[in-house]
Amino acid sequence: MRIGFGYDVHALVAGRPLLVGGVLVPFEKGSLGHSDGDVLIHAIMDALLGAAALGDIGRHFPDTEPMLKDADSTVLLGQVMAMLVSKGFKVGNIDATVCLQEPKLSPYIKEMTTTMSSIMGIGEDQISIKATTTEHMGFTGRGEGISAYAVALIH
Ligand code: MG
Repeated sequence: MRIGFGYDVHALVAGRPLLVGGVLVPFEKGSLGHSDGDVLIHAIMDALLGAAALGDIGRHFPDTEPMLKDADSTVLLGQVMAMLVSKGFKVGNIDATVCLQEPKLSPYIKEMTTTMSSIMGIGEDQISIKATTTEHMGFTGRGEGISAYAVALIH
């Protein structure tokens, strides 16, 4: 068994969609990024790559690559899963926490879980997605950004 850890952060700005775990969350701001800025998927991808010692998301999907402009992170996650499968790895479980002051993510967690489990080809009982505010402290608390932490166990 191997464990991996991932972390990601994106600025929140007007005029961008807020995509979290492959789900569009209605909000006045969205995540700024070269890709679609899905912070949860990026943290999970880095956890998976880390567990397999396959480098990081920036190495496989550089933000200088024009082809990856506004890239669909669900597709990139599928590519990371293919890399792990080709090395003979299976996912044991994923646990992730999204940090966001607003909006509340709880109404969307179930859809995120379903979406992520189908992309990754794992059961919904193998992926845990949680959300927290930072009690109005720091960049997250001021609504300037969104971040996510994830751990992945693979075998
Ligand atoms: Mg990112």
